[in-house]
Amino acid sequence: MTTIGVLGGGQLGRMLILAGAPLGLRFRVLDHTADAPAGRLAELVVGDFTDPATLDRFAAGLDLVTLEFENVPLGAARSLAERLPVYPPPRALEVAQDRVREKRCFQELGIPTPDWRPAESASELRKGVAELGLPVIAKTQRLGYDGKGQRVLRSEADVGPTWDQLGGRPLIVETLVPFEREVSILAVRCRHGKAAHYPLVENVHEHGILRRSQAPALYATGELQVQAQNYAKKLLEALDYVGVLAIEFFVHGGRLLANEMAPRVHNSGHWTIEGAETSQFENHLRAILGWPLGSTAPRGHSVMYNLIGTLPPMAPVLRIEGTHVHLYGKAPRPGRKLGHITVRADDAETLEARVQALQESMNRFEAK
Ligand code: AMP
Repeated sequence: MTTIGVLGGGQLGRMLILAGAPLGLRFRVLDHTADAPAGRLAELVVGDFTDPATLDRFAAGLDLVTLEFENVPLGAARSLAERLPVYPPPRALEVAQDRVREKRCFQELGIPTPDWRPAESASELRKGVAELGLPVIAKTQRLGYDGKGQRVLRSEADVGPTWDQLGGRPLIVETLVPFEREVSILAVRCRHGKAAHYPLVENVHEHGILRRSQAPALYATGELQVQAQNYAKKLLEALDYVGVLAIEFFVHGGRLLANEMAPRVHNSGHWTIEGAETSQFENHLRAILGWPLGSTAPRGHSVMYNLIGTLPPMAPVLRIEGTHVHLYGKAPRPGRKLGHITVRADDAETLEARVQALQESMNRFEAK
């Protein structure tokens, strides 16, 4: 039986395991906490990713390794890659872990981005602000996620406090784009080089955290889809990528500006579990195993809502036709992703009615 090692035991790992079960796959998870959501569905190794003995214990008897969060210490991924196939390749992690490297990679491949400058000090931040013009957004170069480690600057007086609030760490400063919409594409490339793409998804973020995704993105023109696919193709090939890769874009003036990429299955692809012929999780597994990829065609229309911080009562939600609930088994905490709901329908109008019913049910809960 094939055993896949997963670096990270969060909900993405958990959903990979759920997709792998019908394929007869076994999993072992490495996480630094004993209550990792994926650890309840597979063998769990608890330990530090940088500890060689922990990595030995994790790697023993595995057939290959994948990951479910991009901040896996690079040394750990490289050390495992010396003895086992590791997909996606550590090089993709290296690029995605550092916002400056990532933006340079986009630039080298001709993928447009918002204007940006690196800022290694408060005075470089001031210079960057002057060159780009206000408003801007400053982000830590490394270890930022879900809107953490970023601040919007609207006046020159914000420079000093922002530098201090973000911990005096190397930053990237970007033009704050007055985007029309945010979209993402999920692409997947197999060990043998064959690639596929899901349709563009429209995303709504609140406080930097993904709140809602709609797939396929209703307004997205064929032209935008082709553009996104071309950019994804360039990245997949340049990084010799294997697995699912997500790229997030702003739509500004009718064109795409790349914000960031995630070298893993992605929250904006959760709708694919019920809303596509083959889920992103199954296709990631097929890709890393060198199996044929499954169809990425959507099954009607889907909207996915993240459940953040608290959980509404599930019975009223489940009563709405076409809803699918996924809970990750995590303790509630403000700002924490605890689960998601996908609503699916064969056509956009029926979906809209179901989404309205869901929203009313959630509003009733929030109003209490
Ligand atoms: P990130 O962590 O880079 O994905 O940023 C989280 C969210 O912050 C994005 O999805 C946007 O909603 C917002 N954001 C980030 N960068 C920019 C930017 N350059 N211009 C406008 N909004 C941004």
